[in-house]
Amino acid sequence: MQTARRTHGFRESVIRGMTRLAREHNALNLAQGFPNFAAPELLKEAAARAIHDDINQYAITWGAQRLRQALARKYATWYGLDADPERELTVTCGATEAMISTLLALVNPGDEVIMFEPFYENYGPDTILADARPVYVPLEPGQPLDLDRLAAAFTPRTRAIIVNTPSNPAGRVLTRTELEAIAALCVRHDTLAVTDEIYEHIRFEGPHIPIATLPGMRERSVTISGASKTFSVTGWRVGWIVAPAGLTDAIRKVHDFLTVGAPAPLQEGVAAALDGLDAAFYEGLAALYRGKRDLLHAALVAAGFRCWRPEGAYYILADYTGLGPDAGTAAPPDDTAFAVWLSRVAGVTPVPGSSFYRDGGGRSLVRFVFCKTDEILAEAARRLRALGGAASAEPRAAEAAVESGLQR
Ligand code: GLN
Repeated sequence: MQTARRTHGFRESVIRGMTRLAREHNALNLAQGFPNFAAPELLKEAAARAIHDDINQYAITWGAQRLRQALARKYATWYGLDADPERELTVTCGATEAMISTLLALVNPGDEVIMFEPFYENYGPDTILADARPVYVPLEPGQPLDLDRLAAAFTPRTRAIIVNTPSNPAGRVLTRTELEAIAALCVRHDTLAVTDEIYEHIRFEGPHIPIATLPGMRERSVTISGASKTFSVTGWRVGWIVAPAGLTDAIRKVHDFLTVGAPAPLQEGVAAALDGLDAAFYEGLAALYRGKRDLLHAALVAAGFRCWRPEGAYYILADYTGLGPDAGTAAPPDDTAFAVWLSRVAGVTPVPGSSFYRDGGGRSLVRFVFCKTDEILAEAARRLRALGGAASAEPRAAEAAVESGLQR
């Protein structure tokens, strides 16, 4: 039997594929971005209580009222962003469903959607499922957004730009200046900003600025985030969307037909966490991740990787030139071969860099996550350091190439 043409260009999620590879090699999984530590007690207790109280049937399709109200209060306190919980907030099955529902609701066939590269692997397929065309603009680790290239990417067909900050996998936190430049282009070209702010509280540099809060942007912004990363519950699938009422109407219809709604008792848990956890929780989260970032970054540098210390999110994109099975020869392994080799030899599994770039990009890169307990990260560091020792004992003919390579 034939399958639908719209799926033919899609590859399997490389990130989830690498999780399987880690299992096969009994390696530490630094591939898929999910925390392996406990979620806040308050959140778990509230969700468990909701199940005991038989909050087991559909919530209102666009989200339990208590959660939408808690979100409205939080957006007002965190960012001064006022959202009407009745008309401007939608709760979804994770930020992933939020993104696809938004694009299906707001983008027409033939439209163009701008996104940053390296990108999170869903945005391209989401755009294609909406019969639109992805357009890529570079946003590399340690590099400012190239505003000229961004301006050149806007055309009369541009319907939306996906703004992911803090970004996965580059780890950039967009500055106010960069966001203002994006906003100016959106206003000039009458374009929507669809954001992915799932890492908003995992940040080491600068404030988090939702682009919706910039002048002229509220009416053209769809702000997406969720509980997965902030509360370490990626499997709960609770995300949300803040958008003007007119856009929300269309998004809610798509959301209803796609999923009906997010898990009702878990929405209660997230509402309790939003209401019950204070600023110290969010500061603690950022401080926790800062330590993890520094631990992994130091280990990667000691092992001979070239990488930049991210400003936010929980990934490090690392150049492995000069490391690997053929270190020092003219035939370095490609990124997938290197990721497999690292799993087998060092017992640490990253994601091949090419899954974050269009064809041909990211071939000397792999991505590591640091959303793991310090024990796991220390063990990964030990294994990677051993690799560094082994590698530096070998001839490093590629040294010059490494030096002239990335300056991050
Ligand atoms: N966001 C996580 C990551 O980038 C998980 C993604 C996934 O499971 N595909 O690793």
